[in-house]
Amino acid sequence: MSEKQFSILLVDDDEVDRLMVKRALKKAKFPAQLTEARNGQEAIAQLKIRKDSLINSFDLILLDYGLPNMDGLQLIIAVKALDLNLPIIVLTGQGDEEIAVEIMKSGASDYLAKGKIEPNILAKAISNAIRIHKAEQAVELANQRLRASNQLLVLKNQELEKQQQQIKLQNIQLQESYNLKSEFLATMSHELRTPMNAIMGFSQLLLRQYPDPLSEQQQNLVQRIFNNSKNLLEMINEMLDFSKIEAGKLEVNPHQLDLNYLVRLTVEELRSLAVQKHLDLITEVQLEDKFLIQDSNFIKRIIVNLLSNAIKFTESGLITVKAWEIDQTQIAISITDTGIGIAPEDQVKIFEAFRQVDQSFTRQHSGTGLGLAITESLVKMMGGKISLDSSLGQGTTFTVEIPRRYDA
Ligand code: ADP
Repeated sequence: MSEKQFSILLVDDDEVDRLMVKRALKKAKFPAQLTEARNGQEAIAQLKIRKDSLINSFDLILLDYGLPNMDGLQLIIAVKALDLNLPIIVLTGQGDEEIAVEIMKSGASDYLAKGKIEPNILAKAISNAIRIHKAEQAVELANQRLRASNQLLVLKNQELEKQQQQIKLQNIQLQESYNLKSEFLATMSHELRTPMNAIMGFSQLLLRQYPDPLSEQQQNLVQRIFNNSKNLLEMINEMLDFSKIEAGKLEVNPHQLDLNYLVRLTVEELRSLAVQKHLDLITEVQLEDKFLIQDSNFIKRIIVNLLSNAIKFTESGLITVKAWEIDQTQIAISITDTGIGIAPEDQVKIFEAFRQVDQSFTRQHSGTGLGLAITESLVKMMGGKISLDSSLGQGTTFTVEIPRRYDA
């Protein structure tokens, strides 16, 4: 492999001196290709030729300080003005050491006293200057890259901040429309409740058949008006509850309650629904301490929701409501049915608001799809959790675990 030749521009007006340098490099076997210039102008011309024709630039300039017309210092400045970044070794005359300081300040790599030029010293100075210059250039390149990637990062950061700002704005807009929707739900449910109560009240009055009795058909019709109104009112109440929970307007109101009494009472209130479908309904309460510090309205709502679902989605068999102590601090309530069951893929979805396994308009069972969403919210507000265990066609168990004492 051929050795790399260093391309050196030798600037010296004295031919003897140039010869001396050439001989020294030859003697030191330094692989140099020399281009000679006799003065500053010639040197600049050589540099320009290389720069303009995109030929590889010199690796180094070897420069005699005492040039005619343009001294070494001026040439160094002129080289810089050409935007050339080259290592320069200046050859000074005897006794010019004080000039050397100026030379180094102006950006030269090194200086050598002409009279003391020895082949090895010259070769070493040249290779050192080139090596250091290359290392400096590599550092500069790395720095440039760092600066560039830094700038890129700053830009990216700005972009991210902008996006974050946009997301914040969208969030505010979303929250606004969410609030509007909740308000609308609350107002509508509230407004619907009054006429619905009137319809129920008047149909109950008619069913009393006083002073005029009704025909059997009339009785039947009024009873249907009453039943449908009751269903509608339940749905409206569910929407109202849901909008209250969403708006954060529902709060736990803890007080001492008798869980045994509460469970049994609630189950009895719904027994007629089970009887209508010929379903058995059993209550099993096993509590050493039946008292809780919790919200009885919440617990009642939870049992009503889960039990009415169990009755709604069971065609035959048995429904069991249980309550027991998990430990001293936790109690559990479960409702088990022998109904249609819930497929594994639907088990997470059904806790979402308005979600029903059967979302079709032709579905068999009515409902808003809010019952379980409300139930889960109430359980969580009391500091508890809800879980389910179900297999399709066999039945479902919903279990609620809540702290015995509400802890705000
Ligand atoms: P809704 O009963 O008004 O439809 P819910 O939120 O109470 O709304 O219930 C959501 C869905 O979960 C129901 O539509 C039904 O598909 C399913 N589900 C709830 N409870 C049961 C159950 N005990 N057995 C089978 N499916 C149930």
